[in-house]
Amino acid sequence: MSLTDPKTAEADDLARRLAPLDLPARLALISRDVPGRLVFTTSLGIEDQVLTHALAMAKLAGDRVEIATLDTGRLFPETYETWVETEAAYGIRILAYVPERAAEEAFVRDEGINGFRRSVAARQACCGFRKVEPLGRALDGAAGWLTGLRAGQSANRAATPLAAWDADRGLLKLNPLADWTRERIDLFVRENFVPYNTLHDRGFPSIGCAPCTRAVKVGEPERAGRWWWEQEDKKECGLHVGRPGAAVQPGQEAAV
Ligand code: SF4
Repeated sequence: MSLTDPKTAEADDLARRLAPLDLPARLALISRDVPGRLVFTTSLGIEDQVLTHALAMAKLAGDRVEIATLDTGRLFPETYETWVETEAAYGIRILAYVPERAAEEAFVRDEGINGFRRSVAARQACCGFRKVEPLGRALDGAAGWLTGLRAGQSANRAATPLAAWDADRGLLKLNPLADWTRERIDLFVRENFVPYNTLHDRGFPSIGCAPCTRAVKVGEPERAGRWWWEQEDKKECGLHVGRPGAAVQPGQEAAV
């Protein structure tokens, strides 16, 4: 007798059916087999741009799959330029979820504008009100959450599945690029003229908030430039660990 709960078994079955398909077929299957509201959260990084392109080409962007971003208020100017360029290129709107004003004001009052450098707890508090809480609103009532996570992005993401039941959020988490390599992403962007953040050409393989992201050196891991002042096992912002306070699972490290 299997002890796997039905939602997990359903997600595993979906992952198995997605595995042999190309990206358009994966998105078509998700659209058909996951009834209800689908939300794709984009950081406007290069993987997410591939997904935005594919959703737009499949005419799934907008009504069928909402595209949303977490506008933390601390993003690079280049990220906002990418946002504008992407909307213009595909004729879509990317919805913004912003921090609650009272929480932001309280944090800046108590910790300072860059108070996230003071401690891991302060950094997690900043990610909490700028990212995790807005993400909860973005996903409220969603049946499926699409992400651009890839297994190859870091050791913590090595087990990223194509589909999984997110019991904490009560939805299907869908990672249709989970098995793509960075080389495949770059080739797709070049061949399809996908607009991308120019910081990627300046040593930023992974792009988050401006004060918490630096360029990486040759040979460094893709995410070495994120929260570089913290120990590796503390470097997560809570977006992919279920609801705030839930344990970090393999393959569920921060995406943005
Ligand atoms: Fe705050 Fe930095 Fe987290 Fe952005 S990445 S929410 S600035 S701590």
